[in-house]
Formats: sequence, structure tokens, C-alpha cells
Amino acid sequence: MKGAYWTSYEPPSDFSWSWKKIASLFKVFAPAYSTGKWLGGDTDYRVQDGYHWLRNAKPKVIWRFSCLNHLNVPKTSFIYWAAMQGRLMTNDRLVRMGARVDTRCFLCGLADETHQHIFYNCPYSFKCISLLQQSLKINVPADTLSRWFNRGHGGTRLQKSIICVVYVAMTYAIWRARNKARISDYVLYPVVLVRNIIKEVLTRFWARNKGNLTRREADWITSIEA
Ligand SMILES: [Zn+2]
Repeated sequence: MKGAYWTSYEPPSDFSWSWKKIASLFKVFAPAYSTGKWLGGDTDYRVQDGYHWLRNAKPKVIWRFSCLNHLNVPKTSFIYWAAMQGRLMTNDRLVRMGARVDTRCFLCGLADETHQHIFYNCPYSFKCISLLQQSLKINVPADTLSRWFNRGHGGTRLQKSIICVVYVAMTYAIWRARNKARISDYVLYPVVLVRNIIKEVLTRFWARNKGNLTRREADWITSIEA
């Protein structure tokens, strides 16, 4: 490691697995040292600060209405759970495990592929989320959706439930679009991806819910079907 700056350090391929694992942590903590000092130099690094920083760096989880919703398909719930736990095989994980792959995002090609990037920062996902919000008639930034789910802001339980199923389905669809792009260089148009998700979720909803809707709920569903 002599002579190398630790944030960009790449261990030689013939080094031990354990050293590669340790070195992989350098990249995890590199964003916290973007100015050369821990979080801009306000305080010295402490283990407990590093732990809390790592926890907050992960996407917020919207468990309450998400994986356990009866309208979810098991495979979408599983991918959503894996995405929120950072367990999908993204390029940054593959590199940390010692694979030699191009780290760029397959969907936009503009940044390294990480969980945070694919589901929150990628222009492709951002476009999908914004189209989804337009279709569902909600206007909440993606990173605060969890707060919206928990605190209400006027939505009925049924609306929240459907929005959450759509959101879980979109996480799955984005991951599938990423896999398709990896294999074929073909990226589905966001508008098509979002339209397919809404159609699929509402088909499932109508198959399980006959009637029992308030006028307001029926009007809302009709408006997003249009
Ligand atoms: Zn991207």
C-alpha cells in the first residue's frame, strides 16, 4: 500500500482474500473522507460515528406496507428486500469480492453502480420514480416516501397499500431492466416500464378486490388507470 492513497487503493490480485476484504472497506468509507478528513473535518473519526454513518448511508426502508403486502408477488418482495439490505450483486459488490468488471451503471453509464445509485441517484430510476408519482397523483421526493407512507398526508389505507406495491414492483422492474441492459445493451423506456408496472399491479388488485371501495378510492383508481 506504500505510496498509494487509501481511498483509491486496489489490492494486487495475488494478495490474500482477507486483505482484499479489508481493503474493500476503504472504498465504503471513502465518501466520508471526500475532503480528506472525516466528514469534512468537524470531528475526529470514532468507531461509533462510523457505525451510525454507515447505517444512515443505506436507503430508508419502508417495511410497514411493503414486503408483507398481500398484493405483492414473492419475487418482487424478495428483490425489494435484497435491494434495501444492499444484497444484490451490483458492480461495486462484485469488485469488492475480487471480480474484474466495469463498475459503471448499466442503465445510465454515468456513475459507478451501487445500490444507492441504482435505486435513488440514477437518472433512469429518477425518471421512473417521477413518472410513477405523476401516474399515482402523488408528489413526494423518492427519499421521503417512507415518511409519506407512515404519516399519511391524506391517503387512505388502500391508496398507501397500492402505492407501496407499485413501488416494490418498480424496484424489481429497475433491477430487471438493469440485468437486461447488462446482457443486451438494451434499456427499456421509463414510460413503458412504469406503464407495465401499474397495469400489472391493478390487474392483480382487481382480481382480488371485488367492490368494497369508497367513491374516493374508486375515482383514484380510475384516474391512475387512464
Ligand atoms: Zn445509473
